[in-house]
Amino acid sequence: MTDTGTTLMLMLLCGVVGLAIGSFLNVVVWRVPRGESISHPPSACPACGHAIRRRDNVPVVSWLLLRARCRDCGAPISARYPLVEAGTSVLFALTAWFAGPTWILPALLYLAAISVALALIDLDTKRLPDAIVLPAYPVALALITLASWNPWGEPHWEALLRAVIGAVALFLVYFVTVLVYPGGMGFGDVKLAGVLGLYLGWFGWGALVIGWFSAFLLGGLFAIGLLVFGRAGRKSGIPFGPWMLLGAAVGIVVGQPLWEWYVGVL
Ligand SMILES: [Zn+2]
Repeated sequence: MTDTGTTLMLMLLCGVVGLAIGSFLNVVVWRVPRGESISHPPSACPACGHAIRRRDNVPVVSWLLLRARCRDCGAPISARYPLVEAGTSVLFALTAWFAGPTWILPALLYLAAISVALALIDLDTKRLPDAIVLPAYPVALALITLASWNPWGEPHWEALLRAVIGAVALFLVYFVTVLVYPGGMGFGDVKLAGVLGLYLGWFGWGALVIGWFSAFLLGGLFAIGLLVFGRAGRKSGIPFGPWMLLGAAVGIVVGQPLWEWYVGVL
């Protein structure tokens, strides 16, 4: 198969897996902030309590066939559920396109999945739950070690070392930021910063700097926009987690080339 064919197959596969993962993330986003188990009991309609049938639990399709209503009681089902499923699918396909058939792909798909969950939970509750962020340290480290080992190819051990330094550095930078300026962020953001530093460091020092800077730039521009258009007072706290995740995505995708161009200009 040609390289293009392989990438297209991989995008299709990851897109389909993304639909199922998105469906699971809907459960995570609802239950984790409430301290409920994500495996038990099976999903039920929040209005009438009827268990959701297997055929009514197909990502996106079931919502369309049911016309956004519960089969038992007719209560409306939020469009957010199919949107999260479709959005995760697109994000997984784009991740496959970016990474191609490489060993960093599993690590990036895992980051994409927790990013969707953490961004939505932070928007809902202004919290980044430890139940998701803390396990991300060993899981991401294991997946990034696999990518650094790079079976059947040249290992990238220098990238693994950079990743670990990046994790410590970004954790400390956020830790100091929260101490100096406690109003803007919380320790949930500090804990997430270590995970993002691991990824950004793996991609390069430039990715780390751009990823860190982009979060503040994007979050700051958004906050200024809200103030200018009178949608928010100075006190209406905007969660910072989604901007950290978006900034990290910018750092991973364009950070290293952007940094090298910038240093070249200087
Ligand atoms: Zn119902």
